[in-house]
Parts: sequence; structure tokens; C-alpha cells
Amino acid sequence: MIFTDDTVAALGFMAAVADTVPGASESGEDELATTSELAALLDEWGFSGRRDGDARELAEVRAVRERLRGIWTLERDPMVGEVNAILEEAHAIPRLVRHDALDWHIHAVSQESPLAERMLVEAAMALIDVIRADGTDRLARCEADDCTGVFVDLSKNASKRYCSTRCGNRMATRAYRARTAD
Ligand SMILES: [Zn+2]
Ligand SMILES: [Zn+2]
Repeated sequence: MIFTDDTVAALGFMAAVADTVPGASESGEDELATTSELAALLDEWGFSGRRDGDARELAEVRAVRERLRGIWTLERDPMVGEVNAILEEAHAIPRLVRHDALDWHIHAVSQESPLAERMLVEAAMALIDVIRADGTDRLARCEADDCTGVFVDLSKNASKRYCSTRCGNRMATRAYRARTAD
């Protein structure tokens, strides 16, 4: 196991948020364009805590999405700078909490803090584990030339190339066509 389960879950959520942009989403549309799309994403990932469900919250989360996309591909040292900046901005104080069906785990901001802030801080806490494990190579970017998707690569040798089987199949088809064209 490279990372703990809760870190893997937080990174998965981070990637799911990042991959709602048109260049990475399955529909090819922006899949974080409405408050109901945001609510569905939070439900899917079981993201707990305060939700306002308004346009302002959506706008803040969309800004977080851009920031997370930027952080995902940073080298280790600049990533440290971003993580520390997020924790400082949010006045993060790690504490153990237990809620819903979940056993003791870490939260660094209150469940009543704005959603966008909690998303950022949860990402930062997960990135702490990635940085400490020297595992930034696990934060991968899809190699399909028409996809901007990101994903957590938990494969044995960090050898996964595509964000989805959809991208893998498309690239395989394209390579096959290129080979058989002449
Ligand atoms: Zn929690
Ligand atoms: Zn892809």
C-alpha cells in the first residue's frame, strides 16, 4: 500500500473534481457547471459537512478546481509551498474527529467552514502524505493527446498511462488505424 485509505479516497475525490472540466470529462462538457452537478458529485464521494447549494459556493468550488489542477502536476518542492499556503490561509488545525459511520480520522478545519475551503484543506492534508511518501509520481496526467484528465496511479510501477479505459481504448484504436493506414 502506497498511501492510507483515507488519503487514496481524498486524492480520488480531488481527481474527480479536476476531471469535470470539458477537456477531461466523459461528456466533453463542463460537468461542474450547476449547483445540482456539484451536489451529485459530493453525494457520490460522500463528502460531508456544510453545503450552501448557492451560486457563490459553486463559483468558489470552480476556483478550487483550477487550483487543484495546477497543484496536481507540480514537482515535489513547489507542491510543498502550495500545501503550506493552503493550510495557512485556512488557519488549519488538525484534529481527530468521528462522524457518520467513519472511525477516527483527521479534519483540519470545521465542518461548518465553507465547502471550497474544506475541499482545499482535505486535498492539502492528502498531499502531505503524498509528499512525505515521496509519491508525487502517483499524481498522473492522462497521456491521451486530446485529454486533460488527471488520476491517482496506484499501479505497481506507477505505469498507468490513461485516466480511463475510455482514453486507453481510444488511443489504442487510433494507434491501430495509424499502423494500418498505409
Ligand atoms: Zn470526515
Ligand atoms: Zn484521459
